[in-house]
Amino acid sequence: MRIGIPSEVKNHEYRVGMLPAGASVCIAAGHEVWVQSGAGLAVGCDDAAYTSVGVHIEPSAETLYGQCDLIVKVKEPQAKECEWLRRGQLLFGYLHLAADSKLTAALCDRGVTAIAYETITDRHGRLPLLQPMSEVAGRLAIQAAAMALTKPVGGKGVLMAGVPGTAPANVVVLGGGVVGANAVEMALGLGAQVTVLDTSVERLRELAALFGPRLQTRVANKQTLLGLLPRADVVVGAVLIPGAAAPKLLGYDDLKKMQPGTVLVDVAIDQGGCFESSHATTHEHPTYIREGIVHYCVANMPGAVPLTSTHALTNVTLPYILRLANEGLPAARNDALFAKGINVHDGQIVNDVVAKALAL
Ligand code: NAD
Repeated sequence: MRIGIPSEVKNHEYRVGMLPAGASVCIAAGHEVWVQSGAGLAVGCDDAAYTSVGVHIEPSAETLYGQCDLIVKVKEPQAKECEWLRRGQLLFGYLHLAADSKLTAALCDRGVTAIAYETITDRHGRLPLLQPMSEVAGRLAIQAAAMALTKPVGGKGVLMAGVPGTAPANVVVLGGGVVGANAVEMALGLGAQVTVLDTSVERLRELAALFGPRLQTRVANKQTLLGLLPRADVVVGAVLIPGAAAPKLLGYDDLKKMQPGTVLVDVAIDQGGCFESSHATTHEHPTYIREGIVHYCVANMPGAVPLTSTHALTNVTLPYILRLANEGLPAARNDALFAKGINVHDGQIVNDVVAKALAL
């Protein structure tokens, strides 16, 4: 099969769908890999890095789309790219169609088979191609919080780790899933005092076993959370109710219960945010202050570290790409968990969750 890797054209998207190491694996398996010229530059892979493993470099995106059987991307195709997709072709990438009826209509119109990273599941019911980005976001949340705590950007002026003879930062993490656990790990690693809240006692048991007595665990409810706010330096919002908007765990009035300069990091902002006072921000202007509280609400946090994010993402996508290249669409169709990724086929929406979301 001929696999095509176009340059990402979405604003501020620096990741790439395949690295030279992955391309070499596909080529060794008997496939052709075409990469658009310059596609890997932002993550340190120039065209020569690809040609050295046998990749064909294609200057024109239109030709690449026209000539390849399987298009592997990071972000959803933009309007111009949709025009180049065609019937019988496989498209594999993050699509987020449930929130985008226009793109869904365009993909149906083109007759392409669109397989979404974010709806493929594993046998534990997890989303294996989303997990690495949650890992990145969870770890980055603490780095972002550490910077936001500094005085020049409106923070309390607390050093996350403290120094001998001073108290470290007090970090509260709401939601102990993938993002939450990674935030906990980073905050503990820096020496912060950390409390994690989750509605699932089972999950708290797992975290307690993983991190030991240095981590405080609490069952999430409003009263417990309010009790933690006056002493918190950082509150990380990392909750998820699958398929639903994030629940609002703190209202505008609750901001007054925190000391000025406290930092809220709303990682769940991509699902609407879990603080009433949150609105999405960008990497250029990541924070704003409301009622003296510093808010960090970047909706695409992994975009700040495209090098790490591309490696983390392609580590998990490559086995799926290889299966698609080796067997074609049956690779996904004949595996119930992989099949959950097929969102559009032959002009129809074939994923029930996406169809239901778009019907609303
Ligand atoms: P996850 O499913 O692994 O974990 C979510 C956790 O939240 C679960 O343990 C669940 O029990 C808990 N939870 C649900 N409701 C709760 C409540 N009311 N109080 C406390 N805990 C509650 O999800 P995840 O992968 O960790 O993702 C968390 C959020 O981060 C999602 O909204 C996801 O979309 C978002 N995210 C954002 C970015 C970004 O760039 N901003 C990147 C990756 C993920």
